[in-house]
Amino acid sequence: MTRHPVIGRFAPSPTGALHFGSLVAAVGSYLEAVGSGGNWLLRIEDIDPPREVAGSSARMIDDLQRFGMRADGPVLYQSSRTEAYQDAVDQLLVANKAYPCACSRKDLPASGIYPGTCKDGIPAGKHPRAIRFRLDSSIFEFDDLLQGHISESPANSCGDFVIKRADGLFAYQLAVVVDDEFQAITQVVRGADLLDSTCRQIALQKALGIEQPDYMHLPVAISADGKKLSKREQTDPVGHQDPAYALHKALYFLGQKPLGGLGLESLWIWALEHWDNTLIPRQKEIISAGV
Ligand SMILES: [Zn+2]
Repeated sequence: MTRHPVIGRFAPSPTGALHFGSLVAAVGSYLEAVGSGGNWLLRIEDIDPPREVAGSSARMIDDLQRFGMRADGPVLYQSSRTEAYQDAVDQLLVANKAYPCACSRKDLPASGIYPGTCKDGIPAGKHPRAIRFRLDSSIFEFDDLLQGHISESPANSCGDFVIKRADGLFAYQLAVVVDDEFQAITQVVRGADLLDSTCRQIALQKALGIEQPDYMHLPVAISADGKKLSKREQTDPVGHQDPAYALHKALYFLGQKPLGGLGLESLWIWALEHWDNTLIPRQKEIISAGV
């Protein structure tokens, strides 16, 4: 059941230019929210300065405006939210739902599944580095608005995961959960490449007493050789394209059949009037040439 009014969001990381894959997620989240009379918010996920590309946030915001998408409220920058993330980490530590971990990358098995080395305390002679979230064997589940019923035990798929890194930065999984609550997001529409993260985020929501939003995971555009289009398109950003042409392509990718030859403004009017999420392809990946 979709909650009304919908508060949706688009939350890019400023690690490069806006590309076709991110445009699809922006358009899908925008039409789901605004098309149902709700609000659409923008969040810049700039919590990882080493990965950030200078000037990328401003350029993404400009590109979105040029495409005709304006957020219903101020842009939230994750770099301004470290106190809230630390509060959440402290809350989990106090509740014994998180613990310090002394392991470095070389201590971890090739599977990537954390074996729980530090869950009962730091081994003698070692020093705490990161903070991990403590999982039990619970299965977490949700009904994705596109991909159907999803259930997973994060304890089996990844084990206790890092919420605060050894370098002092907060992990994406924690920040996204804290900020979706802060922005009162009721519906998360994003690429299916993030489907694997969702049960981890639901586990954190439950531990922090946060209400679970609805989820819709859109197909991700890949090239014929199976690579995520976003990688290649860092050199071919969507911002260089005619916005009406690129929007038309994004709508087609999402299963909509807009009339040809419409200008940007008429295309948005058409899209808001005709948006039909039952037409979105249900695959997790679709081969696409982008724009
Ligand atoms: Zn450890």
